[in-house]
Amino acid sequence: MQLYQNQELKIYNSLTGKKEIFKPINEGHIGMYVCGPTVYSNVHLGNVRTFMSFDMIFRYFKHLGYKVRYVRNITDAGHLENDADEGEDRIAKRARLEQIEPMEVVQMYTVDFHNTLNTFNFLPPSIEPTATGHIIEQIEIIKTILDKGFAYEINGSVYFDVLKFNETHNYGKLSGRNIEDLIHNTRSLDGQSDKKNPQDFALWKKAEPQHIMRWPSPWSDGFPGWHLECTAMSTKYLGEQFDIHGGGMDLKFPHHECEIAQAEASHGKSPVNLWMHTNMLTLNGQKMAKSTGNFILPNDFFTGDNKHLSKTFSASVVRFFMLQAHYRSILDFSNNALLASEKGFNKLMEALNALVNLPVGNTTDFDVENWKKNCYSAMNDDFNTPILIAELFSAVKFINQVKDNKASITKEDLETLSATIHTFVFDVLGLQNVSSGNEDSDKLSDTVEVLIKLRSEARANKNFALSDKIRDELLAVGIQLKDGKDGTSFSTN
Ligand code: AMP
Ligand code: ZN
Repeated sequence: MQLYQNQELKIYNSLTGKKEIFKPINEGHIGMYVCGPTVYSNVHLGNVRTFMSFDMIFRYFKHLGYKVRYVRNITDAGHLENDADEGEDRIAKRARLEQIEPMEVVQMYTVDFHNTLNTFNFLPPSIEPTATGHIIEQIEIIKTILDKGFAYEINGSVYFDVLKFNETHNYGKLSGRNIEDLIHNTRSLDGQSDKKNPQDFALWKKAEPQHIMRWPSPWSDGFPGWHLECTAMSTKYLGEQFDIHGGGMDLKFPHHECEIAQAEASHGKSPVNLWMHTNMLTLNGQKMAKSTGNFILPNDFFTGDNKHLSKTFSASVVRFFMLQAHYRSILDFSNNALLASEKGFNKLMEALNALVNLPVGNTTDFDVENWKKNCYSAMNDDFNTPILIAELFSAVKFINQVKDNKASITKEDLETLSATIHTFVFDVLGLQNVSSGNEDSDKLSDTVEVLIKLRSEARANKNFALSDKIRDELLAVGIQLKDGKDGTSFSTN
């Protein structure tokens, strides 16, 4: 008997706009596809948030006893600079700017992606296929879509015919756009494009002579359109119909809408019934994005070297901060919110450490079974991690009361409480107990704060010799003070 047989899991479906009871196509098995990164630069914290949400979801499915095949791809070709099939390939552009091979760009940032996810304690997906490894499969799909009459070839490029498709299918059903609005809102063609209509999208593009990333095809030496790789790889590893397709909210249109169209046009079936979309991480109220320069790199938390950070933070604290928000809510990043999360995280770890030496008695002043049920109910309600964390803190409060001899717990209940809290904290939320390191770093932080205070008093008294001495001696031991408009912060190197 597996846990999932006793649980009623509800998941919000972006396609229907409702929470639905989850029932996999094959009992006990889940096929999940999540769009992976385009490896042309370092992943930023916003990207990490999306992949972390799916890591938490993957972990919970596994905990419930499902056999999960989780496919998350690497986009290493075909993603152009803008969504209208124009501009340079992002990877080729980076290769040109850095004067290296495109595959060196791919290698460098794939390694960075993996290192980052390891640091944040992600579980690896079951399969991590690449777009360039599936060119043949993509060409086959294009041939089928052409045969079925939903695409046309022009000057060596092949485009998906959205208007033709929409005569018999519903293009726009995921993003809630209708074709008239799309026609109205899509920029008219500038004469440079071969497309019949601006809302059509590329399945295959003929490569210009300077375009280095190219493959032979029946139509031209060229490269596949970005949306096609996900149709090819999801179908190959999960079948024509599978359980869950996910990605960030910003991929709903056009990427996922086009994936649905490609799948329906080539094999007549919608790829999945359940679409999951994660919400954005923002910084100063704006979406974190490389293109606008409004982002934080994961590594900045470990060096503290970022104008948005007052100090260093551990990966588990950052993970805890992100999971305190529901995956479908916008989360705005701030140093203060992160400081508050750090306090909460340390409190949680202290309570977990205290469990080992907790005294046991003859009665329990806490309804452990009901609390455990509430933890599952939170996760079963569309993976509500903020509610789960609130439940964990009601256990923390009780553990502290027992520690202070203000409440009692039996040996049996302590075992249940301990096993449950460990499961949710480490297996499901994927946090790591780094409390000993944290205590030291908290003490270091407090000590440096005392010195910062002494230094500002010295400056206020115009004792610059002393204030400079404090700064220089801290620097000599690897602690750099930074004076900003909100006061002085520090980083360690
Ligand atoms: P990309 O490499 O740009 O295709 O993005 C990889 C993933 O990160 C996609 O699922 C995006 O939706 C997601 N993503 C991009 N920016 C953010 C953000 N600010 N917050 C959350 N997820 C994001
Ligand atoms: Zn995709």
